[in-house]
Amino acid sequence: MEQTKFILAEKDMPTRWYNILPDLPEPLPPVLHPGTGKPIGPQDMAPLFPMEIIMQEFSPLNYVDIPEEVQAVYRVWRPTVLYRARRLEKALDTPARIFYKYEGTSPAGSHKPNTAIAQAYYNKKAGIKRLTTETGAGQWGSALALGCMYFGLELKVYMVKVSYHQKPYRRMMMETWGAKCVPSPSPDTRSGQAVLATDPESPGSLGIAISEAIEDAVTSKDTKYSIGSVANHVLLHQTVIGQEAMKQMEMAGFYPDIIVGCIGGGSNFAGMFLPFVKDKVQGKRPNLRIICVEPSSCPSLTKGIYCYDFGDTAGLTPLFKMHTLGHTFMPPPVHAGGLRYHGMAPIICHLYRLGFVEARAVPQVATFEAGVTFARTEGFVSAPETNHAIRVTIDEALKCRETGEAKTILLAHSGHGHFDMAAYDQYLTGKLSDYEYPEEKVREALAHLPKVPA
Ligand SMILES: *Cc1c(COP(=O)(O)O)cnc(C)c1O
Repeated sequence: MEQTKFILAEKDMPTRWYNILPDLPEPLPPVLHPGTGKPIGPQDMAPLFPMEIIMQEFSPLNYVDIPEEVQAVYRVWRPTVLYRARRLEKALDTPARIFYKYEGTSPAGSHKPNTAIAQAYYNKKAGIKRLTTETGAGQWGSALALGCMYFGLELKVYMVKVSYHQKPYRRMMMETWGAKCVPSPSPDTRSGQAVLATDPESPGSLGIAISEAIEDAVTSKDTKYSIGSVANHVLLHQTVIGQEAMKQMEMAGFYPDIIVGCIGGGSNFAGMFLPFVKDKVQGKRPNLRIICVEPSSCPSLTKGIYCYDFGDTAGLTPLFKMHTLGHTFMPPPVHAGGLRYHGMAPIICHLYRLGFVEARAVPQVATFEAGVTFARTEGFVSAPETNHAIRVTIDEALKCRETGEAKTILLAHSGHGHFDMAAYDQYLTGKLSDYEYPEEKVREALAHLPKVPA
C-alpha cells in the first residue's frame, strides 16, 4: 500500500513552541524606538500587547510551554495532516517526493488560528476586553474572530478596502463569529481620515490598516492590538506546524532536501521551517534548502532594502530591521492579499542575510496555473497565497525530472482557497494578468525611509 496521509494522534501534538532566538548564530538586531533611535524594551510595547506576549517577543528560552487552554482549542483541528502528493508527482513525471503539510483544516481555513488562539488567550488572561487588528484578504481577521469567539473577547477588524469588496465572505465569517469589520482606510481613526483626505479612492494597504488598528487600541479602554504575522511571538506560535511536520516526515522515513513556503509577513513558513533550520544552523543538515516565495509585484526579500523601517504606513510602530519596500509603498492589488505587505519578519530577514534561507519571486498568473494543477491532481483548491509556494514546489520537482534526482520536497500548505473562487474564475477565463514590479513606486517609497541615528 502506498501511504498517502501521515497522521499524528492528539497526544502527539506539540506541548511547547520552539523559539529560534537563542539558537541564532548572531543575535537578532534590536527593535528601535523611532524617536530616540534606542532599542525598545518590554515596557515600550505594553500599550499594545499583554506582558506575557511581550516576554515571548524577547524570550531567551528555547521552548515556551503551550498553555493547556490553548492546547484544548488546538485539538479541535490539530495535529494537521501531512500528505504525500503522489498524484502531483505522477502528473509531473518527477522522481521527486513531494509532501505537503495542510493547514486548511482549521475552522478559519488557514494556519492563522495557531497564533490567534494563543493571542486571544493571553489577552483574556490579562483582563483585556477588546482587541483590534488589521486584515488583508480577511484570513487573519477571521482567524482572530475565531480566537476571540473561543475566549469571549470583542474584536474590531480594519480590513484592506480592496479585499473588503473583493472578498465579502470573509467579512461575513468574522461577523458570524461575532466580530466587527470595517473597510480601511476608514473614517473611524485619524490615520484613516488622513489617507482618505489625500486619496478618497485609496484601495488601502496592510500598512494603513495596521495604523488604524494600533491607533484604536492605544486610544480605547481595555483594548489591545493583535498582529497576525511578522512579530517574533507570532512566528513562535506557528512552530507547531514544523514540529508536527518533523515527526510526520520521520514517520514517512524522509528528511526534506528542500522546504518551500509562501511569505507575506513570514509566519506560516517560519512556523514550518524554524524547527528544521535549527538543524542547518547547527551544521547537522548543511545541504537543506529553504525557499521563501513571494509575489513579483511585492518582492520585499528579493528587491527590498535591509534596513530599519516602520511596520505600518502612518509610522506608529517601532522600527524593525527588515527587508522593506518602504512603509508608504502601496502594493498592486494581487489576489494573494496575504502577501501584500511592504516588510518581512525580522527573523526571516536575519536568516536570509546569514544565508540560511533563499528567496524567489513569482508572477501571479504562473501561481494560479500551479494552483489549478494542484487542484486537478491532489484535489485541494488552495489559497492564492499558497499557490506561490505550489509554483516553486512544481518548478523544483520539474528540475528533478531534468536531473533525475529523487529529492524530497516539503511544501508548507498554508490554507484553502474556498473564498477565492472569483480569482480562480478570472484565471480560468483568461482574464487574470500579471502586475509588473512597480519599480518607480518602490523607489519613491524608499525615499521616505525613517532616519535612524547611527
Ligand atoms: C495570511 C496568509 C499567508 C501569508 O502570511 P504569512 O504570515 O506570511 O504566513 C499565507 N497563506 C495564507 C493561506 C494566509 O492566510
